[in-house]
Amino acid sequence: MIPVTKPYLPNVHEYEDYLNSIWERQWLTNNGPLVNEFELKLKRYLKIQHLLFVSNGTIALQIAIKALDLRGEIITTPFSYVATSSSIVWEGCTPVYVDIDKDTFNIDPAKIEAAITPQTSAIVATHVFGNPCDIDAIQEIADRYDLKVIYDAAHCFGTTYKNKSVFEYGDISTTSFHATKLFHTIEGGAVFTMDPELLKKMSYMRNFGHNGPESFAELGINAKNCEFHAAMGLCNLNYVDEILEKRKSLSFYYWKHLEELEATYPKLNDDLDYNYAYFPVVFESEDLMLKSLEALAAEKIYARRYFYPSLSSLPYVNKQFVPICESIANRIVCLPLYHSLTFSDLELISRVLLRVQNYYKPQQLNTSRSPILVEKEVVFEINAHKNP
Ligand SMILES: *Cc1c(COP(=O)(O)O)cnc(C)c1O
Repeated sequence: MIPVTKPYLPNVHEYEDYLNSIWERQWLTNNGPLVNEFELKLKRYLKIQHLLFVSNGTIALQIAIKALDLRGEIITTPFSYVATSSSIVWEGCTPVYVDIDKDTFNIDPAKIEAAITPQTSAIVATHVFGNPCDIDAIQEIADRYDLKVIYDAAHCFGTTYKNKSVFEYGDISTTSFHATKLFHTIEGGAVFTMDPELLKKMSYMRNFGHNGPESFAELGINAKNCEFHAAMGLCNLNYVDEILEKRKSLSFYYWKHLEELEATYPKLNDDLDYNYAYFPVVFESEDLMLKSLEALAAEKIYARRYFYPSLSSLPYVNKQFVPICESIANRIVCLPLYHSLTFSDLELISRVLLRVQNYYKPQQLNTSRSPILVEKEVVFEINAHKNP
């Protein structure tokens, strides 16, 4: 079985060493020494001045929206994971969707201005699949209309833009360290800002608003993370360069083996050192994509429709017309990509996809016979021939 992703697990003895130290101290959570050490090492690794480790990437977004005191309408992308939109609604704001760029799948800055109203307070954009948005164009619009910018950078661990961590951009950036992400702490996330005042505010918010044992500076929530998750982060930090290298070589291997596949891939930003977080493939049609998924599943290979559906179709938002997003969401699949995936797994996946294309290409795509069935029929015919 080849799943779409597998969490990276470090050597269990390294994790046990941290567990033993937790048992000795009996300090499990509430800003413990491992959380502190993890935050410090993370800042050093990312070459970034400020960050706060929080319990997950969704609460990171919610804290960012709360800390900037956003109200009314927030311009956002329909092509992201549901948490980008749900956080906006959860914080009492209204998402206003702006369609995506057809090549990068990130929010299209050329369409933002038309969506701005007197109620607009911010832009919440996702760097989709770790590929940064058009950051300069978005910042220029935000400055002109006095809007805040939050980046959902959940896919961006290890990505640098103009030689800086992509987490440095926007008023606040957020990320996720969920087990499915390329770098993880089992559950976890972080908020980043270059503004020390905002950082202080969010550090209170993360811990119920406490600024002393019996005093409160802010309205807060419980967004702390704990020693056990910090320990996983400390272990995984030792391997993250290796993880990034492996993903890069797997991605290039995919591209090489899929040269004949008539599919498209997101166009990567120019000023980028990319982290190869995902391997998205956009098929020519939804039909061909579904047939490819079916053929992969028959070999116990599970690719995933990601992101699908368009967030503008969520039951709790106002429907909006975002034709480019809908077209991409209907045809895109993320192929399996994880550290222990082998090159031969990858050759198998590529062969299946090319087989599906070669079968359907000369014909109408609407034929009801799948290549899996056809192969079985051929085998059946041969067997029938052998045993009349
Ligand atoms: C994973 C993800 C999140 C949510 O992060 P959690 O840590 O799972 O809460 C938010 N946005 C995007 C784009 C993601 O991929």
